[in-house]
Amino acid sequence: MKDPTKALHIGYDKDLQKSMQVPIYMTTAYEYNDTDHAARLFALEEEGNIYTRIGNPTTRVFEKRISALENGIDSLATASGMGAVFYSIANLVKNGDNIIISNKLYGGSITLSTQTLKQFGISAKYFDSTNPEELNDLIDENTKAILFESIANPALTVPEFDEIVKIANKKGVITICDNTIATPYGVKPIDLGVDIVVHSASKYIVGNSSAIAGCIIEAPFAKEKLKTKRYSHFNEPDESYHGLVYNEKFDNPFIARARLALLRDFGAVLSPFNAWLLILGLETLHLRIKAHSDNAMKIAKFLSTHPNVKNVNYPFLEGNENYKRAKKYLKLASGIISFELESYERAKEFVKKLKIFSLVTNIADSKSLVTHPASTTHQQLSKEELINAGVPEGLIRLSIGLEDVEDLIEDLKRAL
Ligand SMILES: *Cc1c(COP(=O)(O)O)cnc(C)c1O
Repeated sequence: MKDPTKALHIGYDKDLQKSMQVPIYMTTAYEYNDTDHAARLFALEEEGNIYTRIGNPTTRVFEKRISALENGIDSLATASGMGAVFYSIANLVKNGDNIIISNKLYGGSITLSTQTLKQFGISAKYFDSTNPEELNDLIDENTKAILFESIANPALTVPEFDEIVKIANKKGVITICDNTIATPYGVKPIDLGVDIVVHSASKYIVGNSSAIAGCIIEAPFAKEKLKTKRYSHFNEPDESYHGLVYNEKFDNPFIARARLALLRDFGAVLSPFNAWLLILGLETLHLRIKAHSDNAMKIAKFLSTHPNVKNVNYPFLEGNENYKRAKKYLKLASGIISFELESYERAKEFVKKLKIFSLVTNIADSKSLVTHPASTTHQQLSKEELINAGVPEGLIRLSIGLEDVEDLIEDLKRAL
């Protein structure tokens, strides 16, 4: 079955009402047939519904569909993308461990890894995802994960997948790839050997800024690494489940533990209503991400010929520093573009003149968005700090929407 067909059909057997759309089960709890039934469910001897914090039938349809699109063995939905990033790390580490993160990552993933997790005794080291040989020296016996993005937000860096996976496999360390911007239609990290994929489903998956959501997908082969000494907690009895050993009980130990231990105890569960919005989003994701990418390519070309514009950054533009890797690994390069204007003032003036683009700190909406990091997300940084962070004061980021591309180019032309 091809991807769009999977996205429309997998995981839903029509209910008694023969409802065409997946029903929204807005419920916290579910009735048991009798106490024996309840006991079997609690002992994990039988699959079934217990309590929506650890599972819900509507959410389950989304999980099955995104897992199928990413060629995973199973998936877990979370209340946000940051919830997914946090759980994917928290599932692997304990006090005293470390993780290795790409130096080009989403801001929230950087603060989580370098600041918040530090307070739990977990440290983070940086690596260059475009030149990953240094992983050989960075990985030690307490390294539990390597985290990077398939198209980094906001730098748009495309990683050297093959090399990262090769070194991680040699050393037996789990790789986690955030596939938010590329989507499974841009690249399937599991096909390239990545163990765990995470998404902020708040972006292209839901597609229209209507919900915050996230998910984690496990590759069928992740278990091979989880069986080793590095991940002993997957091979030793979990006292909170009468001595359950995840690797013995499950083919999907990573997702099973994320659900049974992390969702149970941390509780960042997705609302069934939001899961339903994600199901609607997946139905058209293949059409939308192609349209976003086509519009963005045309706009990147237009911008790169405009005299007032410097340094257009779009991975599929010939001459871009990511071009070779983008062509090697990506089918689509998404709707995100950045470029530079002469100065802070020119950037502010440009944003003010735009009529169709909205000034919003977000990406991947069906509507076109613009951000000026120097006056918003990065305003506390000095001119030099801005340059070091790769966000010069005239930098503009666009998230190209689904409007007619001629209208968007007209809007940009006027503002430039
Ligand atoms: C937005 C984003 C996140 C965080 O997702 P939320 O749903 O906002 O919590 C994580 N990673 C990337 C690449 C993102 O763009």
